[in-house]
Amino acid sequence: MSTPKEKLLFKPNSSGVVSVCLAYPGTREVALANLGFQAVFRILATTPGVICERAYQPDPGQALLSYESKRAAGDFDILAFSLSFESDYPLVVAMLDSAGIPARRQARDQSDRGWPLLLAGGPACFLNPEPMAPFMDLFLLGEAEEMLAEAFESANSWRGVGGAAVLDALCRVEGAYRPSDCEPVYGDDNRLSDRGTREGAAGKVLRRYVKNLDDAGARTVVVAPDAVFGDKFLVEASRGCEWGCRFCAAGFMYRPVRHRDSGKVLADAKAGLEHSRDIGLVGAEMASHPGITRTCSDIADLGARVSPSSLKADVITPGLAAALARAGTRSVTVAPEAGSERMRRVINKNLSEDEILRAADMLAADGVESLKLYFMVGLPGEEEEDRQAIVELVTTIRDRLLSAGRKHGRVGSVKVSINPFVPKPWTPFQWDAMMPVAELKDVLRRLRRSLGRLDNVQVDADSPREAYLQTLLSRGDRRVADIIETLARADKDQWWGILREMARGGASESDSANGTINPDDYVTREYGGDELLPWDFIDQGIDRDYLWLERRRSQAAIETEPCDVTSCVTCGAC
Ligand code: SF4
Repeated sequence: MSTPKEKLLFKPNSSGVVSVCLAYPGTREVALANLGFQAVFRILATTPGVICERAYQPDPGQALLSYESKRAAGDFDILAFSLSFESDYPLVVAMLDSAGIPARRQARDQSDRGWPLLLAGGPACFLNPEPMAPFMDLFLLGEAEEMLAEAFESANSWRGVGGAAVLDALCRVEGAYRPSDCEPVYGDDNRLSDRGTREGAAGKVLRRYVKNLDDAGARTVVVAPDAVFGDKFLVEASRGCEWGCRFCAAGFMYRPVRHRDSGKVLADAKAGLEHSRDIGLVGAEMASHPGITRTCSDIADLGARVSPSSLKADVITPGLAAALARAGTRSVTVAPEAGSERMRRVINKNLSEDEILRAADMLAADGVESLKLYFMVGLPGEEEEDRQAIVELVTTIRDRLLSAGRKHGRVGSVKVSINPFVPKPWTPFQWDAMMPVAELKDVLRRLRRSLGRLDNVQVDADSPREAYLQTLLSRGDRRVADIIETLARADKDQWWGILREMARGGASESDSANGTINPDDYVTREYGGDELLPWDFIDQGIDRDYLWLERRRSQAAIETEPCDVTSCVTCGAC
């Protein structure tokens, strides 16, 4: 089988004292579309003293080997996992099985064979690493750029020192979390009652972030035309978001919002034009970037296409709409998230229907042919009329897009993506339960039927069962590792059956003694306001009481102003 064509835009070390295998729980094509994975690979592969190779999900029955030299993952000093999505956790355990590495830390500790150190980092980890804690020796919590370089800065002095000494050295970096420092305790109510932090270990772990992103912003460093986004050259324009939508983890875990200097973004885009005519601008919400119109216009002047990630409708200006159209953007993503004004206030979307329709008109008038609209269902406080309002809003937008299209002799289309609400740590909705799967299925079936009657409207929806798994792995404590291991060794089409069996046979209060757990307890149960949450030990910089207050405001459908990082200290992140 021929090796896929790819080009590294940096020179990796050809030798080193410490060998690191950077693994992505997914295929190579998916991994290379992940800017975080690319950024971590470049940092490790150019850190003095480190030699780094990559590894991806092996084919069934195949061993986990490195991509570059086909070396067994178990032969590296460190096996580091880049974890962006919780639902990849079972795949991590399956990859360890395919490497012949005992998945559980304790099993490796008890064995006298020198296993690689198991490291993990990435967004999923710094929201809540606890479900994966029994498998990993160390987590690095937060943004990698500065933390990773610091953690490996003395790598050249690690020749001949054992894994334990290397682990100690890595643990000295701020943001390092050694799960063996704690032994959580569960109360009679089967809930987490204490972290069980050992004497001398830190009770809190700071989430690291990069204060000035101008020169640290990520961009494509491995050009791979066969990756998921094709040859699109990705440039990070901002990190975090000032709007504070109450369901959105990215809006809180990356606080405070940081917009990169437009000149730096444009310079990266220009560098990208040597490899592609299609520039993807990456960030949680692009229209709020202070220089976005200028940047898109400059890229258009260079004869290239620009594709910004999501745009908030009310901040799309006529200038931006025109620049996007000039830069060949034919499809734009707008996220109303909820159909009714009331529900948008509940989730703090700060977006009126007039603003959404004004944006649709502007984009259509400037030649944007299709709109991708994101909605969520199963949100806290959602009523049937809020769901009906989704159909009405889509109908109105479709009608306006088509009438604008007819004037320009073209037929527009609306792609509607409906996703079940997944309560995420470190958001105001972290205490809220997910809607039961059966109810969600019914809601989606009725919405699909109503929207399916509309011409020029396509609908796709995430699976409620996938949302259940994501919620379980997002809000779980260490005991969820048992479920991860069971799923890792079962066929995917058996997963739901296994989870239902566990829920049926799952723990009642009295089962806590033998530690059996009921997955529903982490998914469809509302967490108590004074409950110890598995992720409370992370210092995200955000005050827990602020999140609770935001939850109360959502229950009263009261909106909160967007962040003003120049003067505000409300949530504690600035
Ligand atoms: S302190 Fe204020 S401006 Fe800063 S992230 Fe928090 S809410 Fe936003």
